[in-house]
Amino acid sequence: MKKRLKWLFAVPLSLLLMFSMLPVGMAKEWDMNYENYRQVATGMDGMVTTAHPLASQIGAEVLKNGGNAIDAAVAIQFALNVTEPMMSGIGGGGFLMYYDAEADETLILNSRERAPAGATPDMFLKADGEPIPFAERASGGKAVGVPGTLKGLENALEKWGTMSMEELIDPAIQLAQDGFPIDSVLASAIEDNKAMLYKTAAGNVFIPDGKPLREGDLLVQKDLAKTFELIKTEGTDAFYKGEIAEAIAGVVQQYGGSMTTDDLAAYDTTWDKPIWGEYKGYQIASMPPPSSGGVFLLQMLGILDGVDLSQYDVKSWEKYHLLAEAMHLAYADRAAYAGDPEFIDVPLKGLLHPDYIQERLNLISLDSMIEKPTAGDPWAYENATQETEIVEQPDDKNPGETTHFSVADQWGNVVSYTTTIEQLFGTGIMVPGYGIMLNNELTDFDAVPGGANQVEPNKRPLSSMTPTIVYENGKPVMTVGSPGGPTIITSVLQTIIHSIAYDMELKAAVEEPRIYTNNTSSYRYEDGITEEAMEQLRMRGHQFGENSTVIGNVQSIWIDQKEGIFKGVADSSRNGAAIGIDF
Ligand code: GLU
Repeated sequence: MKKRLKWLFAVPLSLLLMFSMLPVGMAKEWDMNYENYRQVATGMDGMVTTAHPLASQIGAEVLKNGGNAIDAAVAIQFALNVTEPMMSGIGGGGFLMYYDAEADETLILNSRERAPAGATPDMFLKADGEPIPFAERASGGKAVGVPGTLKGLENALEKWGTMSMEELIDPAIQLAQDGFPIDSVLASAIEDNKAMLYKTAAGNVFIPDGKPLREGDLLVQKDLAKTFELIKTEGTDAFYKGEIAEAIAGVVQQYGGSMTTDDLAAYDTTWDKPIWGEYKGYQIASMPPPSSGGVFLLQMLGILDGVDLSQYDVKSWEKYHLLAEAMHLAYADRAAYAGDPEFIDVPLKGLLHPDYIQERLNLISLDSMIEKPTAGDPWAYENATQETEIVEQPDDKNPGETTHFSVADQWGNVVSYTTTIEQLFGTGIMVPGYGIMLNNELTDFDAVPGGANQVEPNKRPLSSMTPTIVYENGKPVMTVGSPGGPTIITSVLQTIIHSIAYDMELKAAVEEPRIYTNNTSSYRYEDGITEEAMEQLRMRGHQFGENSTVIGNVQSIWIDQKEGIFKGVADSSRNGAAIGIDF
């Protein structure tokens, strides 16, 4: 285990009494002793796995009350907005992938943030033409994309849900109003970001009386509760056209951004078809552009299948070397070709063409590292030529921190949903009086213009979020996804490889140490890789540093279609919980 939940909270009686007054139909009291939750669960009638125990419990309750996977997902997103306010919420955006069992169809509700009409390609450059340093461009109003999450929840519910938003938002209102004990992940996020939070309305919420809230303290979010009440009574128009829109535009402009109420009123989601691929007899549905997730997940799986990766031990240097090489090649292509398909053509067919994959594979050898991995020419495999501008970008971005969750219900519907406000607490800007943390998703655009992912009005920044569902004979058998900015794609990749190619049991597949590298000077790895393997890797030129780190937070469900059993797994990198449903 990378990290264990060590904390125990004695629930005050008054809190229990408050929660016993929750509306009929929903849980009357939530178990706030996080020690009681598990990271592995099985169920015959459904499964929920999220990065926070209370959100998992709220989702499970919806399923137990007869809701479907979409109903549960909506309740979970509202609950996560309260319990993981630094990771996701209505101030951000996300990708909700849904397998609709009755229609036998997989579709994505894309609520990615968009640049406001006043955004310009050079808005992240200083007067001298150099990029504004990341910490600065990530905390100003220009970084805030027009939020999509709430519209996404509404659209998903209208199309697939069976319950009302009024019902599904209730548990989150109660949690925000009455408070809940802060867990170790939120406590460190507050501590690490206190200087940023203190500068905005967020200071009053997370650092009351100048003292950062700590693990075990109660987090009360009255303004957020009020905002959710407003949404409950007036609908999402309150957010996109009403008083909340005015407050959002006002604060974004105060912090130097251009967003107007017109931008909010104009926001719309899209329905996207997944990008599909095959891996060892399984069919994989993943996220297409504006995410780079699906295409490069499939490209790396193709390359690694070509080298027959699993002939090498799961902890061998050969495995890490080959993973690193596939990553270098994929991220070189990513930097050159990926962006919002409403604005640019992405050569998806070329990037996944078997001959192109073979061409990339031919560059890899066990003896040495590719010294200068560069983008290939996938357009050649689409019988097209296209000018591609490769613009060098500053390598100063922290991987974001967001959240992924999965739900499966008794009818066979499945949700795989990655949702984000980008960095921890987004920009750090809270909408005063409304308790909403605003994203800094627009830092996912290139800071230096000229390439596929340059800033443009109404465009969506390139994402790495990779909500994925794996199918066998057309039936869903696995959901997977993770936070972690560009590391997301590789966390999903390694989880799939561990489960399918190495045939590992799901929890072991999730916990098996992961690596990440996007170029020959930037490396990360998790604890548990042997010194011997590290030595071999360093000898070949891979600059793995001295210190391990945590990469991502995978929430995954395995569905045994034959036995009708769901197995849920939460990653120990956070205090998440898997809860099985048995009627
Ligand atoms: N902004 C990131 C992306 O869209 C998601 C946040 C995270 O990195 O976890 O790729």
